[in-house]
This record gives sequence, structure tokens and C-alpha cells, in this order.
Amino acid sequence: MLSEALTRAESLIRTIPDYPEPGVQFRDITPLLVDARALRTVIHAMIAPFEGSFDVVAGVEARGFLLAGAVAMEAGAGLVPIRKAGKLPLPAASVTYSLEYGTATIEAHDDIAVGTRVLLVDDVLATGGTLVAAHELVETLGGVVVGTAVLMELTALGGRDVVGDVHTVFTG
Ligand code: AMP
Repeated sequence: MLSEALTRAESLIRTIPDYPEPGVQFRDITPLLVDARALRTVIHAMIAPFEGSFDVVAGVEARGFLLAGAVAMEAGAGLVPIRKAGKLPLPAASVTYSLEYGTATIEAHDDIAVGTRVLLVDDVLATGGTLVAAHELVETLGGVVVGTAVLMELTALGGRDVVGDVHTVFTG
């Protein structure tokens, strides 16, 4: 059962129907991010199972960056941005994965030492394609993914089945 603080934080996530396209229930975390108490509560909840087990947080563009930066600061870890294709000057690895319509590519710089313990972070787990690709990307760079932390899991989309072990704070 969620604590009172987490229940309050969850209530701040706004669902926007049919955005960015018809049929999608978009989970907008900006009302939660603007609330200092809720932000602190969810950052602690994302870190809790992994306390002391990671050196670097890898956040997925774009909303994953917002949480990954806070997680890294709070945990005393470093930060690696996983970016959409074409945004980094020196991409060392890239992974292309399938979306509902078409494909997407993510990239990262080679700034981590082989064996670095990495926590993957994103805002929403939907089909899981993004996090599977991010995992592969980090391992291509020589990092060791010690865990995956996501703010909200959309259980109906089955992402957990492809991502495997993932810690999610809220389910929707
Ligand atoms: P997926 O690869 O299908 O698991 O999609 C996850 C990525 O898409 C995350 O980076 C999310 O930010 C974004 N995303 C997918 N579905 C939603 C949704 N319903 N609301 C907000 N973000 C979403």
C-alpha cells in the first residue's frame, strides 16, 4: 500500500486523453514536478531499492532527464543522458527499436568506464521498447545495469514482460 505522501504525489499526475494522438492516455508528470514535497517523495521512492548499488544514473530523453538528474543528486551518483538520435556530438553507441508506428534511435556518449554500475531511469513504462533499448545501449558502452526505476508503469501495455525486473513507484 502506498504511504500518504506517495498517494498525494500520485494524485498530482495528470492524465490527458488523446495526446499526442487519439487513443493515448498521456501521463503528465509536470504538476508533480512543480510540487517540492511530491518531487522529493517520488525521488526517494525511486532510489530506495537500489540505495548504494549504483555509480551512475542513465536517464532517457526527455522526461527521464528530469527524474534522473534529481535521482543522481540525491544518491550522490553521476548522470548519463541517453538522447534521441542526432542530438549528441560524439555518439559512441546507438540502438534502434520499434515503436507502434515506425522506429526510434537512442544514442549515448562513451563517458563511463567498463563495469560502471548504472541505474536506468524513465518517467513512464508503456510497451517497454525504450527501456530495453536503453539497457542494450548501456551494456554496449560497457556499463552494468543494476536496476531500472520508473515513476509510472502502464500495466495494460505489458512493458514489464519485455523489460523484466523493473521498480515502478505507481501503476496506472
Ligand atoms: P515505451 O517504449 O512504449 O515503454 O514508451 C516509454 C516512453 O514513451 C517513455 O520515455 C515515456 O516518456 C513515453 N510514453 C509512452 N507512453 C506514455 C504515456 N501514456 N504517457 C506519457 N509518456 C509516455
